[in-house]
Amino acid sequence: MAVVEVRNLTKNFDGGRGHGHVRAIDGINLATDEGEYLVLLGPSGCGKTTLLRTIAGLEEPTEGEVLIGGNVVNGLPPRLRRIAMVFQSYALYPHKTVLDNIVFPLKAAQLDKAERERKARWAAELLGIEELLNRRPRQLSGGERQRVALARAMVREPQVFLLDEPLSNLDAKLRASARDELRRFQQRVGTTTIYVTHDQSEAMGLGDRIAVMERGRVRQMAPPVEVYDDPADTFVATFLGSPPMNLVPRDGHLVGFRPEHLLPENLVPGEQKIRVPFTVDRIEHLSGDRHLYGTVHRLGEETRVITRLPATVTLPVEAGEEHTFAVAADRLRFFDATTGERSEPMPLREG
Ligand code: ATP
Repeated sequence: MAVVEVRNLTKNFDGGRGHGHVRAIDGINLATDEGEYLVLLGPSGCGKTTLLRTIAGLEEPTEGEVLIGGNVVNGLPPRLRRIAMVFQSYALYPHKTVLDNIVFPLKAAQLDKAERERKARWAAELLGIEELLNRRPRQLSGGERQRVALARAMVREPQVFLLDEPLSNLDAKLRASARDELRRFQQRVGTTTIYVTHDQSEAMGLGDRIAVMERGRVRQMAPPVEVYDDPADTFVATFLGSPPMNLVPRDGHLVGFRPEHLLPENLVPGEQKIRVPFTVDRIEHLSGDRHLYGTVHRLGEETRVITRLPATVTLPVEAGEEHTFAVAADRLRFFDATTGERSEPMPLREG
């Protein structure tokens, strides 16, 4: 049974006087597996937070159903949904100690003091913050505050964690370690988690599956490797990957390939390759790799392509030069030029 399921979910907001409505969620269906880490990924405004808030019960759906543990929870207030939410602002009580912050949600649960503290210490130990229990939030780093917020969410032993960009206030270095910690923690407690981010490396690193969203819809929901290697459409293909997937128009299709797969021919594995002649416009050096920005000229049309050469490739390249690189045929992906959706592979002739 899915821990969280949404069926045909739509959420409209009033767009303000004379502006009709905004459709933040547009007919979404999805279901999590038991213990799964599902990441909602998409650009700003695509509806990630609204979807999370609707699952939490902070918003009522316009249409459709939310199920938690197999039960329809529409109309049920958030506190009765057995969910725990952590937002980007952790909203800790500044005047309470860490311990009091963590036990706070248990006050309503009619547990005695000793039992509340036992739970708080259990959560604090799991998150490595036992030493901080007597401090106040202003005496903590951003990462420590995040852990306190998580501990507070954990003590209620929720069926589901709903996390909305919980790492966005942290600096890059702390973010990486907090991400790692979050994942290990979730693996230990095994609680189903839905995690919102617009950061693709966070999504790739954390998710068992990623739901890639755009304009209130889920474009693809699949494990990270699959979303990256086999994107369902050109939106997903270009949203993921930095630089994004190249798309070259050919015979009513768009032929897609990742920048790291367009390489000097002798480095391309396999028998079947497609050669791509291009002019180098610009070169960027990024942590040892070279990104070549180029233009393909074909049948009077110009298409931009990007290749990513690893540091091990020493081939000299200058802006303004013409090069012919190649892509292994099994690395090519095909999309319908009109709809942008994934299509069947087609045979490509040279040239
Ligand atoms: P971000 O990454 O920027 O946080 P998001 O993907 O979480 O974005 P949402 O916050 O869910 O996006 O917003 C989805 C759409 O709904 C946006 O167009 C937003 O302007 C609109 N929206 C969200 N909340 C409201 C509201 N209370 N009233 C009106 N419109 C809203």
